[in-house]
Amino acid sequence: MASINVNCPCGNQFVTEEPTADSGFIVECPTCGARLRIKPPGIPRKQFKKATAPSATDRVAGRIKKYEMVSGILWLIIGTVQLVLVWAAAAGVWNIINAIMRLHSVKNIYAGNPAVVSWYDQRRNWLIAFAIVNLVLGGVIGVFLVAFDWWMRDYVLRNRTVFEGVLSQSA
Ligand SMILES: [Zn+2]
Repeated sequence: MASINVNCPCGNQFVTEEPTADSGFIVECPTCGARLRIKPPGIPRKQFKKATAPSATDRVAGRIKKYEMVSGILWLIIGTVQLVLVWAAAAGVWNIINAIMRLHSVKNIYAGNPAVVSWYDQRRNWLIAFAIVNLVLGGVIGVFLVAFDWWMRDYVLRNRTVFEGVLSQSA
């Protein structure tokens, strides 16, 4: 196998075997341990791109993370509006606190983290409480967002293998 020269951002220069598609074209710097993605000269750009594209599971996890952030930000906005309308202020406070908690935990959403599934699984009762609080105290806007959250929960549970892997499947 051919070897290549690698310049690591840490300043270290080293010679290593050409990385292969199996390793995702990753070489590891022996000095700082950084994982660098290198396109070997003999590999066509198209093949390199295909091998280094984010996996399907990473894409699903990334999408869920994005939904969660959008939802959290929308809840913040709704909560703030509700806070201004005095009669809905209680729901506003509730929505803002929950939105901040959710945005805080967005970083835990990634493929291979089985906790994500139970997190969404247990959200069912929480969403029902949310719908009631918003319906009674905060008007109708919040209820639409609960519907979105409900759909998002379904999406996570449908794609649970992204987080749990396929080992638990019986078939
Ligand atoms: Zn390095």
